Amino acid sequence: MCKYVSKQPSKSVKIWFEIGGRKRDERIITYKNRKTGEQVQEWESGFGIGRDTEDLEGELWKPLEKMDSTQVYEILNNIRNELKNYEPNLAFKTIHKIRYNLTPAEREYWWKLIHKLTSIKQTESKYIKDNKGELISNKCPLCKTQKETRNHYNHECPKVLEFRKQIARIIYKETITNEEWMLQKSIDTASDTVIAKARWVYHCERCKIDHKSRRRINNNILLDTTIHRTDLALPKWKEFIKKTHENTKIKTKQIQQTKQIRT
Ligand SMILES: [Zn+2]
Repeated sequence: MCKYVSKQPSKSVKIWFEIGGRKRDERIITYKNRKTGEQVQEWESGFGIGRDTEDLEGELWKPLEKMDSTQVYEILNNIRNELKNYEPNLAFKTIHKIRYNLTPAEREYWWKLIHKLTSIKQTESKYIKDNKGELISNKCPLCKTQKETRNHYNHECPKVLEFRKQIARIIYKETITNEEWMLQKSIDTASDTVIAKARWVYHCERCKIDHKSRRRINNNILLDTTIHRTDLALPKWKEFIKKTHENTKIKTKQIQQTKQIRT
């Protein structure tokens, strides 16, 4: 009997082929050091990417020795995104805009949230077992009635909706839409920062309840923590939001007035 054993090719080998890496003759190149003006000789292994032309001056060759992992990652990203007609998640833009207002933990949380990597009960219930050896429940740890899907975690849980209403109140808005809650649509820097922090604070509380170190959720404490965290990052955020609101009110009034004049 013959047994076939399939082995996964090494990840780096796959990536090497994906970015179009190849081998040409190894060579020694000489060039002038820009700073010292000295002639330097360097050995090239011949591994690299790009077009190989006879004319060394104009060649578009990137030797492996001169590439770091970020460059490789960038090339790979471009290739994969072109294949899928990929559009970057709009939340990245908002996060990038407010990045200095966030702590590393908050930024990491958002990175995971955008990539759908935050652990939720729907997926955990498929492989995590409790003390008795049974698979854990897929119910939401907060409302304890519905299945915790990604949508439930983000928008549908009654506890999240309640908290979202309270956050809307402190940023002087009637409601926060799903897109705004996911930071896919930016409101303004201060409001986005409040939402980003609020969601991190809420997530921490959810995990505490899930691990039984807290019994039930207390929205007032969560609100205070969110406000305190925002105060530390953006001391004048309340005035800022008030001002932008007043400005938009004035603008809408002006638009209405010009409309009235025209009619
Ligand atoms: Zn729930």
